[in-house]
Amino acid sequence: MSLVPPYIESLKAYVPGKSIEEIKRTYGLSKVIKLASNENPLGPSPKALEEVKRSLSASHLYPDGGLRIRAVLAERFNLKLENVIAGAGSEGIMSNIIRTFLTDQDEVLTAAHTFLGFMVLARSRGIKVNTVSLTGDWRFDLAALADKINERTKIIYLANPNNPTGTIFSRSEFEAFLQKIPERLLVILDEAYFELARENPDYPDSMRYRHDNVITLRTFSKAYGLAGFRIGYGFAHGELIRNLLKVKLPFDPSHTAQAAGLGALEDVEFLEKTLENNRKGRKFLFESLAELGFNVIPSDANFVLVLLPSAETAQNLFQTLLTKGIIVRPQETSNLPQGIRISVGIGEENQMLIEHLEKILKVQPAFVGN
Ligand SMILES: *Cc1c(COP(=O)(O)O)cnc(C)c1O
Repeated sequence: MSLVPPYIESLKAYVPGKSIEEIKRTYGLSKVIKLASNENPLGPSPKALEEVKRSLSASHLYPDGGLRIRAVLAERFNLKLENVIAGAGSEGIMSNIIRTFLTDQDEVLTAAHTFLGFMVLARSRGIKVNTVSLTGDWRFDLAALADKINERTKIIYLANPNNPTGTIFSRSEFEAFLQKIPERLLVILDEAYFELARENPDYPDSMRYRHDNVITLRTFSKAYGLAGFRIGYGFAHGELIRNLLKVKLPFDPSHTAQAAGLGALEDVEFLEKTLENNRKGRKFLFESLAELGFNVIPSDANFVLVLLPSAETAQNLFQTLLTKGIIVRPQETSNLPQGIRISVGIGEENQMLIEHLEKILKVQPAFVGN
């Protein structure tokens, strides 16, 4: 007899990307690079670390629930405190949303190939997840999502840019979508890669569309290099935030995570370096991979998705790259077993990947199909 409900029994635990140490040991390599988890290849923001050091002496005190950073974010984005929430990563806030707004009969709706985190949270609550296909060019199909709404749909989850495809939906697509969405339905707009995507003039900054039923989620994990601290934030109508605060774990984010976020917000120089590195690296990877004959999807994030001829070739390429000391991320978990997601590294890491791929293709040209 199982102590857990069937919807928990059927879930699988999250398996993190392989670690550098693990691959060094397994293959006896001295140099291993990780282009697997969309982490910032420049490391953490230095100002964030300074702020963390200063904060350590108050570690015996319970944190304030994110009050300080909420106030700073409100000022920065021209909002009121009551419109901002902070949490243990944007996934921490997502978990909070799932617990606050859903009842057992509700259903959620999203794309077939998107961030796994949202689907797992919904399923762990026993909630039915409905999906629609991506468009032919691998983007969220907002028109199809609007058509798929039924009377039980309570939350629509959008990731813009999407993970693992890196693609965005445009301003006009988003505007048309919002027109069709009933007020009784909550839209989660996950903008984890906002800082990296906003240079694209087609990118809809959700802050310009303040609807009462839209919650924007952002994070310090990517552009600010703070994935290990767990700090993210959300913007929404005061009524939504008021209810989220009732359910929120009272002491998230941690004291040090909040300090890291506050420091990072001041680190204009680090953000600029990150954007510059990403711009160059993403272009280099996209062009080099396309030139080698790979089917690579244009990205507005800090990674690119490569589609191999089959699930087997994708798995094979992933394993072959591991033996060369390069960790990338296969995509079975986002229902794209033929996909390999490659995070943008620093210049020499991107170079190392492309050089190895060139050599590998000489021996195994089947990786790019015929
Ligand atoms: C990386 C990522 C996140 C980040 O989650 P955190 O909990 O803030 O680290 C959220 N959504 C998407 C789509 C991501 O790719």
